[in-house]
Amino acid sequence: MARIAYVNGRYRPLQGATVAAEDRGYQFADGVYEVIKVLGERACDLERHLDRLARSLAALDIAPPMPRRALESVLFETLRRNRLADAILYLQITRGTAPRNHLFPKGGRPSLMVTVRRPVFPGEREREEGVGVITRPDLRWGRCDIKSISLLPNVMARQSAAVAGCREAWLIDREGMVTEGSASNAYIVDASGRLITHPLNERILGGVTRSVILELARRDGIEVIERPFSLDEAHVAREAALSSTSSWLLPVTAIDGRPVSNGMPGHVVRRLMALYGEHLEVV
Ligand code: PLP
Repeated sequence: MARIAYVNGRYRPLQGATVAAEDRGYQFADGVYEVIKVLGERACDLERHLDRLARSLAALDIAPPMPRRALESVLFETLRRNRLADAILYLQITRGTAPRNHLFPKGGRPSLMVTVRRPVFPGEREREEGVGVITRPDLRWGRCDIKSISLLPNVMARQSAAVAGCREAWLIDREGMVTEGSASNAYIVDASGRLITHPLNERILGGVTRSVILELARRDGIEVIERPFSLDEAHVAREAALSSTSSWLLPVTAIDGRPVSNGMPGHVVRRLMALYGEHLEVV
């Protein structure tokens, strides 16, 4: 079945769905996006995603293209037209189309594009054995909290990870701290069983999955510490993990080819994976 996309008021076959050559997203990466997991036709944690979208738009001074409820209708209609019960919804909003000029266009209308695809969630093996990450310098800009479509450093880092046969690249800042992955948040568990992850600030994207995981951990009595951790700490951690909408929560069992602890997923991360499954109502 042909995939259907929504672009600026129209539902069309994805193949013929295009945006204008002078769309500011295309020319300046002047836009934001969201990725939402759909399970059994339910858009998981939709409110949190739409809250973050509103924050990203406000931070860049881009007007929402429509009210929130109307946007939800567009999302569900695009989903319905693609006839997938489990899916990944992608939505992108840019500052719109205008003659190329760095200045914001006056009275411009933002562009909205929505696509849906069949999800590729982690398999049994990755969940049971964990995944490997490599490390790369964090070359990104100073507002990583905005879910901007400007992702070139992330793309470069992720590509290096794939070439190295790894799932993800963890990004290391100038102080030697792990900020996050190229497309996921990063965690370690210390010798006392505490879950440690970078605090919310301009250096990381506040993942929706991260916010859920931290809530589930605290509710379960797992101590959570939001502070930067160094690569050295990660190498001697008892456990490590990454999270994102499409990766869910996954154990990280090797960093730069060195096993984390005994190279197998540990019980804190396993417990959180089970709780996250319950949160999504899939177990
Ligand atoms: N950090 C970055 C840089 C990301 O690109 C993503 C997701 O794409 C995440 C973290 C995880 O965010 P979420 O859990 O909302 O998918």
